[in-house]
Amino acid sequence: MEVISIKDVLDARDRISGHIHRTPVVSSRALSAITGFDVFFKAENLQKTGSFKIRGACNRIFSLSREEGERGIVTASSGNHGQAVAYAAKLCGYKATVVMPEGGSPVKAASIKDYGAELIYRGTKSDERIALAKQMQGERGMTFVPPYDDPFVMAGQGTAGLEIIEDMEDVAAVLAPTGGCGLISGIATAVKETNPGISVFGVEPEGSNSTGISFRAGGRTALDHPLTVADGIRTTIPGELTFPVVQKYVDDMLTVTDAEVIRAQLLILERCKLLAEPTGAVAFAALLCGALPGRFKGRRVVSLISGGNVALPQLADYINKNCL
Ligand SMILES: *Cc1c(COP(=O)(O)O)cnc(C)c1O
Repeated sequence: MEVISIKDVLDARDRISGHIHRTPVVSSRALSAITGFDVFFKAENLQKTGSFKIRGACNRIFSLSREEGERGIVTASSGNHGQAVAYAAKLCGYKATVVMPEGGSPVKAASIKDYGAELIYRGTKSDERIALAKQMQGERGMTFVPPYDDPFVMAGQGTAGLEIIEDMEDVAAVLAPTGGCGLISGIATAVKETNPGISVFGVEPEGSNSTGISFRAGGRTALDHPLTVADGIRTTIPGELTFPVVQKYVDDMLTVTDAEVIRAQLLILERCKLLAEPTGAVAFAALLCGALPGRFKGRRVVSLISGGNVALPQLADYINKNCL
């Protein structure tokens, strides 16, 4: 039995399409000239709540029974999934609690509170905050909405992939950043079960490459201290449900440096007027630094800009430290 199939992604789309944006696919001549690929972006930084995470959160929360929702929803998140859960819960009139890492992004925290959710800080690593969320599920009977390891979340994220292949012809490759792999597993399912000729690549920063390590080892392998500027993907290990999908459908895992991520973020802003958070620029960084194989040169390559939630003072800092 597969965890999800294209049918689940299509069902997810029916469930959530009235509540999310169909984000544009944007081409860039300037960045095509710089990289040699025919560059396109799927602009999920323009999505409601500022990232694709609203897709999975809505699909999961809209599928709960009223009784499950009314017990209150709890989740663990570095921010974007928390914002998405807070937003989707509010749409349904449910209470939400989000467990964030200590020192997590203040913009993401403020937005979670704005959507009316309760915020709790715990640890710095994903497993620490997930443990607390699960404990609250056990002790208070709340409903846990996982950030990635859940078939509804995976199928919801996959709707971004569905839109790419519906809106574009002749796509050669799709690239997306990977953390727990909800996004890439959903996208890869949508893309490969529609057109197996399209290549799908996951991209990670070199300091937080647990999916790449696991992919090469042929089994889930944890990284003790993921370290990267990309705060949305400091994940210690790919998901139990998501990783087999990665093994089945993802062509390869690519790695980029933090410096390349920031250069990618600033180039996307300067040339395309799209604001990506560092994590949102990770996929494009693989085109900039030559991590994507040369056989894709001149061909249509879609990089997902997965999110755009970045604090302006932080952005100013990146700009001041990086002369393009
Ligand atoms: C969560 C997130 C990712 C990674 O998604 P996973 O499903 O955990 O792999 C990538 N980019 C952004 C902006 C995110 O918020």
